[in-house]
Amino acid sequence: LSVTDFVFSLTGTTAETASFIDATTRRTISYSDVPLIVRNLSGCFRRPPVSISRGDCAFVVSPNSSYIPILYLSLFSVGVSVSPVNPASSIPEISRLIRLCKPAVAFATSEVVHKLLEVGFTNRIIVIDSNEFDSMIRLESNVDDGTTVEVSQSDTAAILYSSGTTGNIKGVKLSHRNLISMIAGAIAIRQARSSQAVYLCTVPYFHVYGFSLCIRSVAFGDSLVSIGRFDLRRMLRSIKEFSVTHLPLAPPVVVALVDGGNADLVNGTNWRSVETVFSGGAPLTVAVIDRFKRQFPNVSLVQAYGLTETTGGISRAAGPYESSIVGTVGRITAHCEAKIVDPNTGAGMPPMNRGELWVRGPFVMKGYVGDKEAINTMVDSDGWLRTGDLCYFDNEGFLFVVDRLKELIKYKGYQVPPAELEHILQSHPDILEAAVIPYPDESAGQVPMGFVVRKKGSNIDETQVKDYVAKQVAPYKKLRRVCFIDSIPKNVTGKVLRKELIKMAISGVTSKL
Ligand code: ATP
Repeated sequence: LSVTDFVFSLTGTTAETASFIDATTRRTISYSDVPLIVRNLSGCFRRPPVSISRGDCAFVVSPNSSYIPILYLSLFSVGVSVSPVNPASSIPEISRLIRLCKPAVAFATSEVVHKLLEVGFTNRIIVIDSNEFDSMIRLESNVDDGTTVEVSQSDTAAILYSSGTTGNIKGVKLSHRNLISMIAGAIAIRQARSSQAVYLCTVPYFHVYGFSLCIRSVAFGDSLVSIGRFDLRRMLRSIKEFSVTHLPLAPPVVVALVDGGNADLVNGTNWRSVETVFSGGAPLTVAVIDRFKRQFPNVSLVQAYGLTETTGGISRAAGPYESSIVGTVGRITAHCEAKIVDPNTGAGMPPMNRGELWVRGPFVMKGYVGDKEAINTMVDSDGWLRTGDLCYFDNEGFLFVVDRLKELIKYKGYQVPPAELEHILQSHPDILEAAVIPYPDESAGQVPMGFVVRKKGSNIDETQVKDYVAKQVAPYKKLRRVCFIDSIPKNVTGKVLRKELIKMAISGVTSKL
C-alpha cells in the first residue's frame, strides 16, 4: 500500500465538490479527477522517455502550484521517492542536494531549469509549466495500462530537507508508513464540519509543513488554493476571491498581519469566511498572539508543532478551548508517545518541569540520506526521538515549547532561553520584532544580545530596551547588548537565522548600525 492508495481510500463524497485551485491562473482541478490524472501521470513516468521505477528518486524544484501535490501523489504511487527543494536555493546548495539524493529525474519550473543545467545535471528534466507536462496531465491522454507497482510501506516516499537552522541541512528519509501515520494522526484531531473547507496554503510545499498539508488535502476533501511565492497582497485578495476558511501560515506572516504598517491592507480585507489561522514551524510570541486575538476576535489562532524528522505536526491546539490557552502548541496527537526528560540523565520529568521532549511513534523518520549512522544520534534503540527542544507539559497535558536546547545562551553557569527574552521584547509597544543571540564574552562565556526592529515612528533607545527587559527577568538573563536593525533574517518557515545574526555581531557589522 502506497500513501497514494491510502489517500484515495479516504476520499469521500466531499471530493466531488473540492478542488485544487491556482490563485494566479485560476485553473482548478477537481479532486474527483485526481485519481485518473495520477494514474495517467504515473503511467507516463514508467515508460520512455521518462522511465523511472521503484527505488528511484525524483527532484522537484518549484514554487507552490496545484500540480505539485498531484506530482507527489503520482511519484509515490510508483514507489519513486520525492525530493522537493526550495526553488530559491543557490547553485552550490542544489549541487550539494543532488550529490546527496542522486535523483534519476528532475521536475522543475522553467525559471529554475537553468540552475540544474548549471550544476551539470544530465538526467532527464521535465519542465512543469510546459506543454509536455500539460499533455501528460490531460485527462483524455489515457496511458494507464492497468498495471500497478508493488510499493512497500517501508519504501522511502520522500526525502525532505530540515531547515538547517542549527547546523547543516539534513535530508530526512520518510517512508510511506511515516506519511500514512501523519495523515491518520491528522484525521484524529480533525474537527467535524458540515460545509466545504477551503485552505489557502502560503507555506511552501517543499517543507514538511506545506508538504504534509498538500498531500492530505485530497484525503480530507478540503479544497486547496495555491498562490505560488508568498505575497501578502495576493494572499489577502485570494482570501476574498476563494472564500478561504483555513489559513496555514508561518509565524512571520502572522506578525505581518498584526503589524500596524499593513493595517489598511489587512483591515480592508473581508475576513468573514476565515475560521482558523494555523501557525507552525517556528515559535510565535505571546505578544503577537495577543495582538492577533484582539484584531481578529472571530478567527481561532491554532499553533502546531513538529519536526521534519517527525513527518511534521505531532501536536496541535485542536479545539476552541485549546486555542484559548495562550502559547501552547496543543496536546500531543493520539498516535504519538511523548515524555519530557532531563537531557543530561534521560530521567523523566513531571508536568510543569522543563526538559527535552522525546517522542515515539510510527511517524519517526527512517533515517538521514547519505549517512546511515546519523539516525543513532537522534533516535535511541527503543525508538525515542530526541527533539532537541526544551519543552514542558502543563498539568492539563498541554505542550509548551520553551526553546531549542542548542540555542540556549550559556551565561556563567546559567542557561538563558533566547525565546523568553524575545517574548518580553516583543511585548513592548514600540518593538515590532526581536531576536536574541549568544554574544561571546571572556568572563561570562556568553551574554544575551538583542536585535530589535523598532515600530515605524518609534525612537526607543538601547537603555530603554535593556531596562524594559531587566525589570522582568532575573539578573543573569539581562540583555547586555542591543542592536537596532531593519528586519530579522528568517528562513521560509519563519525561524530566526541566529547563525547570521551571530556572524553579524561578531564581525562587528552591528557596531556600524
Ligand atoms: P536543522 O535540524 O537542520 O537545524 P530545523 O530543526 O530547523 O533544522 P525543521 O524540521 O524545519 O528543521 O524544524 C523543526 C523545529 O522547529 C523544531 O525542533 C522546533 O524547534 C521548531 N518548531 C516547529 N514548530 C514550532 C512551534 N509551533 N513553536 C516553536 N517551535 C517550533
